[in-house]
Amino acid sequence: VVQAALFRRPKTLELVDREIPDPRSGEVLIRVSVCGVCGTDVHIFDGEAKSNPPVVLGHEFSGIVEGVGPGVTGLREGDAVAVDPNIFCGYCPYCRRGQVHLCENLRAIGVTVDGAFAEYCKAPASQVYRLPSDVAVEWGAFAEPISCALRGVDRAQIQSGEDVVILGAGNIGLIMLQLVRAVGARQVLVLEPLPERRVLARKYGCSWVGDPREPESLETVKDLTDGGADVVIECVGKPEAVAHTPQLVRAGGRIVIFGMAEKKDTFTLNLQDIFYRELTILGSVLNPFTFARALAALEAGQVNLEHYTIRRFPLPEIQHALAEHRRGKYLKVLVVPGKEIKNR
Ligand SMILES: [Zn+2]
Ligand SMILES: [Zn+2]
Repeated sequence: VVQAALFRRPKTLELVDREIPDPRSGEVLIRVSVCGVCGTDVHIFDGEAKSNPPVVLGHEFSGIVEGVGPGVTGLREGDAVAVDPNIFCGYCPYCRRGQVHLCENLRAIGVTVDGAFAEYCKAPASQVYRLPSDVAVEWGAFAEPISCALRGVDRAQIQSGEDVVILGAGNIGLIMLQLVRAVGARQVLVLEPLPERRVLARKYGCSWVGDPREPESLETVKDLTDGGADVVIECVGKPEAVAHTPQLVRAGGRIVIFGMAEKKDTFTLNLQDIFYRELTILGSVLNPFTFARALAALEAGQVNLEHYTIRRFPLPEIQHALAEHRRGKYLKVLVVPGKEIKNR
């Protein structure tokens, strides 16, 4: 028997013993090496986001293939892999339009079907990507958030030479910073209230970083961008952060709402401001066809995690891991179901 952390109802996560799952036709059995804790897990745990309990959470993961079901080709026992958790149906009107991330029947490993806060996890072979040989297995657990950030960059259609403002320098903000630099932005300016995260934004090569709580910061961004950035990407998920976006963007500019806010959160727009300045407000959700590019970005060094502050927890301490994520002291909290891995 192996362990898994089962989400039964809001605020209840329980360690249970399970049989090792059997890979059926088209499925891959993975021994989980690392699974990231993400805001979505915390939202689900709180009853704020969609899920399908009882279910094992954990959707940002990598591991080693331990077995494949009939019909699986191209993957073998011993392969190091990362998994795209989002499974689209292929036949709803959105899938048939190519907008698979808007699928009406979307299933997601670690959200609606059993995920990787567990020693073992199964996935359809369509979701499983072999890691490039020089990408560490632990970094493979970041492929999912990187793939989602790539969707945000795609939505913004950033051209080389443009100025971009990123709100928030957490895990997503720092990934976004690296991706935006890779597509050739002229300046990438970051607003982040926590000093230790501002230090990281500098290490990752932002052009300027400031504290959004200081009113002169917004003025500085305007000065540095000659009146406003071409693109503002909000990576915080809080209305206070979104509220800054119209002031930071130039006329004709684009705002990407990337952070996941709470259900109750709203934000007021000045309609004449949108009208006269012809602003574009874009949502960005999930990772349609960006997973392989996320792995390529890791392989090419366009995204690296070497400066990250990471805290690792064994599976039985999953509750503690969620609490630590909430506290926000570390850039990323990882659950390491294998027993042998220690904190560095
Ligand atoms: Zn996530
Ligand atoms: Zn569909």
